[in-house]
Amino acid sequence: MEKIKMTTPLVEMDGDEMTRILWQMIKDDLILPYVDLKTEYYDLGLKHRDETNDQVTVDSAKAALKYGVAVKCATITPNAARVEEYGLKEMWKSPNGTIRAIMDGTVFRAPIVVKGIEPCVRNWKKPITLARHAYGDVYKATEMKIDGPGKAELVFTAEDGTETRALIHEFDGPGVLQGMHNLEKSMKSFARSCFQFALESKQDLWFATKDTISKKYDHTFKDIFQEIYDSEYKNAFEKAGITYFYTLIDDAVARIMKAEGGFIWACKNYDGDVMSDMVSSAFGSLAMMTSVLVSPDGKFEYEAAHGTVQRHYYKHLKGEETSTNSVATIFAWTGALRKRGELDGIQELADFADKLEKATLSTIENGKMTKDLALITSIENPTVLSSEGFIKAVKEELEKIM
Ligand code: NAP
Ligand code: MG
Repeated sequence: MEKIKMTTPLVEMDGDEMTRILWQMIKDDLILPYVDLKTEYYDLGLKHRDETNDQVTVDSAKAALKYGVAVKCATITPNAARVEEYGLKEMWKSPNGTIRAIMDGTVFRAPIVVKGIEPCVRNWKKPITLARHAYGDVYKATEMKIDGPGKAELVFTAEDGTETRALIHEFDGPGVLQGMHNLEKSMKSFARSCFQFALESKQDLWFATKDTISKKYDHTFKDIFQEIYDSEYKNAFEKAGITYFYTLIDDAVARIMKAEGGFIWACKNYDGDVMSDMVSSAFGSLAMMTSVLVSPDGKFEYEAAHGTVQRHYYKHLKGEETSTNSVATIFAWTGALRKRGELDGIQELADFADKLEKATLSTIENGKMTKDLALITSIENPTVLSSEGFIKAVKEELEKIM
């Protein structure tokens, strides 16, 4: 069989620990035999980030903007222990944070749904994708503890010195205060990324805030989404047969529980933080969540939602057998290859991504899986495979479909 040719390189961001091991196995066994893989390679492994003073992370994000599609392995975000472990020059910033800031994107997290791993919510049949706004609100708030009676006001001083004031509260005893903000630019980017992603993935988009209570702050989010929808996306949505739906956050939560799934739920920063953990645990496992960063002008960076699985890596280093789930990392590759295929008009490449996903899911549905899934599956007597054993089993399935 001739290998599938690519025209534009995929931006490949290699990473750390156990996921770096899986990365190589996935490439060697599941991709390189079938695809004449063209990548622009960036080594985001912690050692190389340190050697380049983290320049490699910045370069990789710029390459993602240039070429439009990237695939990223999980990476270590250094803390004090890692500085010592790797003898780092500095406690480098989170690579995901750096990449997000450069791509100005929104993160979409979606569960990989497979027979045998059933969501806790019985009627969820299709994935629910969560889009979290990643700027401002309570994450960039200023807070104060008030010791006794007094008057709290919001004061905005314009560049020309004009002050606008609003009373927050006349305290007659101790209490607490909080001031937070968001930016029109960031809210607009968030809205465009959501509409763009809904179109790309042909799914309905839900957005919810508490605008009845927060008549200026949350209402501005609602208005921005509506204005951008009406002026830029309405026609395209109608053509694609998808809808944009706004509701109150409490109404959304109630509806989600009764819905079938198969849509995108856009959330403000705090709601997204809380709800994404709820949705992902209800769907089964962090090792079955994909994550894609989408910039407002439609550039994509695909990755697994989990980290570098450090505990398994140390076992691996000791020569012990591991059973680490590679599904989300495989799906990061398929997501990126499919998108590259679509953008470059290479149908074979997009088809290959579909086949690899199908082979991965069939393997699990046939009862062959890693330990984390074996513990929660509804399939009787599953076969527990090692990290490598699972990838080999997927390859066997893939050979049948190819
Ligand atoms: P983690 O790597 O996601 O692992 C946490 C635990 O979840 C593991 O110990 C394992 O449980 C289970 N798990 C996660 N992924 C799994 C998989 N694919 N297969 C089987 N089990 C899996 O999170 P962490 O231990 O908090 O973080 C480790 C490193 O990853 C940190 O240095 C952190 O900075 C980094 N991190 C990176 C990203 C990213 O690059 N996007 C995201 C999060 C964390 P058991 O040990 O019980 O088997
Ligand atoms: Mg959280």
